[in-house]
Amino acid sequence: MNARLEAIKNIGKRNRKLPESYQIKPSAQFATRVFHRALIENLPKEAARNWLDVLDGKAKFDPAHADVIAEALRNWAMKHGASHYTHWFQPLTHASAEKHDSFLNWGPNGAVLEKFRGKELLRGEPDASSFPSGGLRATHEARGYTAWDPTVFPFLWEGGDGITLCIPTVFFSWKGEPLDHKIPLMRSDEKLNRAALKLCKLTGTDATRVFSTLGAEQEYFVIDRSLFFLRPDLVLAGRTVFGAKPPKGQELEDHYFGAVKDRVMAFMREFEGAALQLGIPVKTRHNEVAPAQHEVAPLFERASLAIDHNILLMELMRSYAQKHDLACLFHEKPFMRINGSGKHNNWSMATDTGLNLLDPQENSLLFLTLLTAVLRAVHEHAALLRASIASAGNDHRLGGSEAPPTILSVYLGDALEKMVATIVHGKKEELSLRAIDLGLMALPRHEIDLSDRNRTSFFAFTGNKFEFRAVGASAHCALPITVINAIVADSLELILDEIHSAVGDRKQSQAELFSAALPILRKHLTRAQDVVFSGNNYSAEWEKEADRRGLPNIRKSFDAFAQWIEKKTTLVFEGILSEAELHSRYEIFVEQYGKIMHIETALMIELFQTQVLPAAQKDMKARGIDEPLIGKAVHAAGELTKLLSQMTDMGWEAKAKIFCELVTPKMTELRSYVDQLEMVVDNALWPLPKYRELLFLI
Ligand code: ADP
Ligand code: MG
Repeated sequence: MNARLEAIKNIGKRNRKLPESYQIKPSAQFATRVFHRALIENLPKEAARNWLDVLDGKAKFDPAHADVIAEALRNWAMKHGASHYTHWFQPLTHASAEKHDSFLNWGPNGAVLEKFRGKELLRGEPDASSFPSGGLRATHEARGYTAWDPTVFPFLWEGGDGITLCIPTVFFSWKGEPLDHKIPLMRSDEKLNRAALKLCKLTGTDATRVFSTLGAEQEYFVIDRSLFFLRPDLVLAGRTVFGAKPPKGQELEDHYFGAVKDRVMAFMREFEGAALQLGIPVKTRHNEVAPAQHEVAPLFERASLAIDHNILLMELMRSYAQKHDLACLFHEKPFMRINGSGKHNNWSMATDTGLNLLDPQENSLLFLTLLTAVLRAVHEHAALLRASIASAGNDHRLGGSEAPPTILSVYLGDALEKMVATIVHGKKEELSLRAIDLGLMALPRHEIDLSDRNRTSFFAFTGNKFEFRAVGASAHCALPITVINAIVADSLELILDEIHSAVGDRKQSQAELFSAALPILRKHLTRAQDVVFSGNNYSAEWEKEADRRGLPNIRKSFDAFAQWIEKKTTLVFEGILSEAELHSRYEIFVEQYGKIMHIETALMIELFQTQVLPAAQKDMKARGIDEPLIGKAVHAAGELTKLLSQMTDMGWEAKAKIFCELVTPKMTELRSYVDQLEMVVDNALWPLPKYRELLFLI
């Protein structure tokens, strides 16, 4: 019996019983492994005050408190069984990184003892040369630093059989250039804060700090682990490079919101429990459209925290899947012709006083100004937003009549679209603050929520937040959120400057202010409304219409990367990333794309030569199956091999271009022959687990 059939035989035998602790209600488990507010409040008074102010965005951290805090962290961590600490950071890959040190230190008279010093808390020095820097740092200048980020809570991570104190940090080069995703994100948040506070002041809204907020809906697949191990393409690339369409896929529409299978439910409950303990507020779980596809969504939080939490959550899911003999897949398109996975980024802005600034019912002038700023930002920087979600993986997902196409548009819903039209074309009597107020305040909730239902839109207003739907499931949310923050802050500053020069320093009533602001909002809405579209984004007519409107349609991610080095991007990223730093991002993204494509191509060739071809040839001898088909496949594989060898000495930019333009179509060709072979070769000989097994056997 071949390994595939052997694995299938054993699948039904697995079942993992959950420990009793998983019966505990969520709120009781919440943040038990986090050094959270209540613990901070127990620190010596001044240290506590300072740290709490830092958390609220109101002060800088005073290093004088570092020693006290470090020792408190160590005591707490050791009480929970930790022996080591790590500076946890997010290099420019899609994962997090860590380097562990124990608390071991010299004591008096040559004795050793456990100690954690302030300076160890504040700063670490991992060798930066093995992380992507995109030319910012030559290998001989390897120095990179991690610095404690006191805006998020330290936490305890359980892995192997040990517990580690994790100190969230930012990562930068010895010259101070950010080498991670977090520094630019925090800078963009600060920029948005400055602009939004000006707007709050102008409109008499009480706030001293504005934060971007994020709720990331994470889609994923879970499959049986023994079948996963038999698919080297899933193991190494996260997606199947071969696989015929199964007789049953998602056409019966019986999976979405269907009952979750027991084995998967046990897995969900266990990783959710662990997530809650880390302070990740997971709330929603359900089946997704495709068989074996699911979603988990937390309550929204401040973006910088939500982003850390999303990375931790994915890490937890990977490791708990293993405990349940499952494999969790975050690739954007693990299975061709089956829906792919996204990570909808729900984004808004919240004040420290608890207001959601994108709630139309809070303050009409404020809301309309923000709405205008968002529409202008998306219209003006559509191509950059497209670049923020570009990746080799997302190319397989976008535009496949299942995920938003590559044209960037905004969905507003009927009510808001009418409001925008009134401002752009309205008659005088419809245009008082009172009329607008009444319009927005009177919007029934369900009418606003209706906007939620356009699933085809790239960027959709969903009642009191925007949902960026084009983000891929494996993506690091920092990139899209940094771009949204940056472009909205920029547009808002510009609009506010214009309003300020129109009204001057005179004290104005809200109605007077509105009359002064109206022509400015109208001007920007008139230009930006081209990006608004509420129809079916999957339709061919929309593609034509979008072209007529002059909206960019960048089909391939490779062609989107260049947006990072556009002059326009440098301007809008001022204070967030310098021109050289943006250039480094461009190099890193192109190189990552090229490397992923290289791995996939090499894998495809190897799997074909060592698994598919021998099985097909054996069957050809035994039963005389389609020889010309085998011949075509051999030829296509040969051409792929030739393309790879021709690229050896090229730089990544040139390689990436060839992968995008020449290799991708060849891969599709080889795949189509192999998928046809799968349908005819003797089942007992076929080595790779088939889609029907990967998707349905659990
Ligand atoms: P749906 O699948 O219907 O789009 P979900 O309930 O799965 O909605 O997810 C919605 C996400 O949006 C949740 O993570 C939720 O916390 C988040 N969200 C709600 N309000 C805000 C907000 N003001 N800012 C950011 N995210 C928000
Ligand atoms: Mg959802």
